[in-house]
Parts: sequence; structure tokens; C-alpha cells
Amino acid sequence: MVQNKETERFKTLETPFYYYDMELLRETLKRYTDELKKYNYHAHYALKANANVRVLSLIKDFGLGADCVSGNEVSLALKTGFSPDKVVYAGVGKSDKEIKTALEGGIFCFNCESVPEIEVINSIAESMGKKVGIALRINPDIDAHTHKYISTGRSQDKFGISPWMFDEVLATIKKSSNINLIGLHFHVGSQITDLNVFSMLCKRVNELQKWFIERGIFIENINLGGGLGIDYVNPDENPISDFKNYFSIINSNLIVYPGQKIHFEPGRTIVAQCGSLISRVLYVKMGKGKKFAILDAGMNDLIRPALYQASHRIDNLTSKGRIMRYDVVGPICESSDRFGKNLLLPQTKRGDLVAIRSAGAYGQVMAMRYNQKDIAPEYFSENI
Ligand SMILES: *Cc1c(COP(=O)(O)O)cnc(C)c1O
Repeated sequence: MVQNKETERFKTLETPFYYYDMELLRETLKRYTDELKKYNYHAHYALKANANVRVLSLIKDFGLGADCVSGNEVSLALKTGFSPDKVVYAGVGKSDKEIKTALEGGIFCFNCESVPEIEVINSIAESMGKKVGIALRINPDIDAHTHKYISTGRSQDKFGISPWMFDEVLATIKKSSNINLIGLHFHVGSQITDLNVFSMLCKRVNELQKWFIERGIFIENINLGGGLGIDYVNPDENPISDFKNYFSIINSNLIVYPGQKIHFEPGRTIVAQCGSLISRVLYVKMGKGKKFAILDAGMNDLIRPALYQASHRIDNLTSKGRIMRYDVVGPICESSDRFGKNLLLPQTKRGDLVAIRSAGAYGQVMAMRYNQKDIAPEYFSENI
């Protein structure tokens, strides 16, 4: 959340930049871990949502593990001080080099997404004289009712192993002596706001688990992934997602067998609301029947609107004028470089500071240098 007291500091800084409210991040983590402990659940934070080192350190201090999707994320997690036995590594396309990095780091588990991947991990582990735990990332064929680019658990998506392949998977695991099957992993999408999706997922997991139990296979770890959504429309009213309801839905729908550990991989829901992209208005320009507010931040800094048609709340921090309509756009030479159409803002002029809200997840980590723009720096509420 951007407080007014920060605006004076923002005025002295070159824009655009990312700003993180560390008090909100701390409060979010406290609420999340309080709920987690109630049920004795475990969580690995999905680094890809925000990999800023200060953000990561705070998350680590709250006892979360790290969920990584590349070799470099594994290295970063270990460098930041996450204990190797709390690092998991998922992804459909792990390269040999990345697999070696993770094996050298002694991580807890590879979340495997195909038979050929299991074979390659086993043979690399064998050549390094190591043994490693694997979980099967399962494609449960569930529609997360979210944007198609962030749905990952339908049968047509590239992610996970489909149940019809289980016999082949088990045969592969049986002849692979350097891996152990220690878990089942699910992650069906992101920005999921319909909590029925999670009760449906639990019911699917119950069915799928039965298949393994009937074959005498005990699965020690069940990982339900991340995906819990946040409120992009009213970040001030709902700065923290309803973790209580979420975990209670899981608890009442998931069958847990004695000795099993239940894991989660939150990303967005931990870090989105604590971040804002702060930008200056460069020009206000008249268009046909509309006004464009042209910012110095663009899709190169925050690509979600251009990539997923996502919309972020935008606050003008320095104007108290009467409310008018603007198309808020960036400077990049692409028509998709637009943060919002017909947005209501107090009368806006060159030099005004605006906050693009809820930008802490999939914001700075997806920044790029298109048009040779600089990567926006990151500041924090504690020592800006
Ligand atoms: C992206 C990702 C997550 C986190 O998703 P959020 O929607 O940000 O919570 C968790 N697990 C895996 C495997 C992912 O790829």
C-alpha cells in the first residue's frame, strides 16, 4: 500500500521505479503462516513471482521454502539462504545443466513433468553418484476459470503428467535406481478467485491418490501448488487474501493419510499487494473523444496488462482535481502498451506521480529492455 507519507519521498526520485511496502509483506506473511500452522501444512514460496533478494529474505525468515522453476532460481534460493531441504524444482523443460545445478545443491525434490524427464534426472543423478526425491506433477484436467495463459491444469496445457500415463511412469520409476517417488504435485493455474476450483482440485487429488494406494504405493508428500488470487480492483479494502477460507476449504475437502505432509506454493498471493510501480505522467494528449495520460512506465516495466489483459488499479498520488476519464498508456512503440482504458482519475497533468497498484507479483521479474529502456530500480518502505 502506498501511503501519503511516501509521496514526498517519491517526488525526489527518478521514475519509474518499483516500491515495496515491507510492513504489508510482513503482515501478509504473518497471516499466511498463522493459517498454515493451524493445519500443520508446509509452504514453498514461488520465486518466479518476485525474486528481489530483500523480499526473498523476509519470506525465508518466516520459514517458507522455495519453489523454483529454473536452475538460476535454485541457485538464487540457495544463495539467499533457503535450506536445500526446503527447495523444490518444477518446470516442463529442465535442461541437463539446470538438473546438475539442482543435484549439486542437494535440493529436496524435483517436480517431474514427463517420462523422458524422469529418465534424464535419473541418469544424471547416477553419473553424479546421487539419489534424489521426485514428485509427479499431475495434470488433473481441471479448468481454473482464469485467463487462458495462466491456466495450467487442463488436459490441453503443456504442464504435468496425465493419469492415463501412470502405468508407464511407475514402470520408469521402478527401473530407475537413483530417484525415489516421494510426492504428487498439482498446480492448476494462477489468479484463481473462484474457490470452488480448490475444492474440485482436492476431490481430484483424493481420487488420484486412491489409484496409488490401491497399488500399494504410499505417497508421503501432497503438493497442491499455488494459484490463490488477489483483489486487483480494491487493493486498499482487500490488501490480504482470505487465507483462512482458502485453507479451511482445503482442510474440509482433502483426504490426508497418516504420515502425509501437505504442501503449498504461493506466489502472487504473498507479494502482489505489497508492490507498486511508481511512474510520472509525461504528457496528457488529446485523442479522438478521449484523453491519453502518457506515463514514463510501460509494458517493459509491467507486462501483465499487455500479456494477459490484466488490469491494475491506478492512483494519481499528487492530484486532487475533479475526476475525468483517461486512457493510461506507456511510452513503448506498441499499441498493447496500455495500462487501462477510460480510467477515472483526478485531473491529471505532466509531472503528476501515479502508482500502478498490486504490482509486486509478476512485475519487476518480467521487466525487459525492449526499446532499450532501463530496468526500473526497486525501493522499500523501510529505507527509501
Ligand atoms: C507459478 C507457480 C506457482 C505460483 O503461482 P501463483 O499463482 O503466483 O500462486 C506455484 N507453483 C508452480 C509450479 C508455479 O509454476
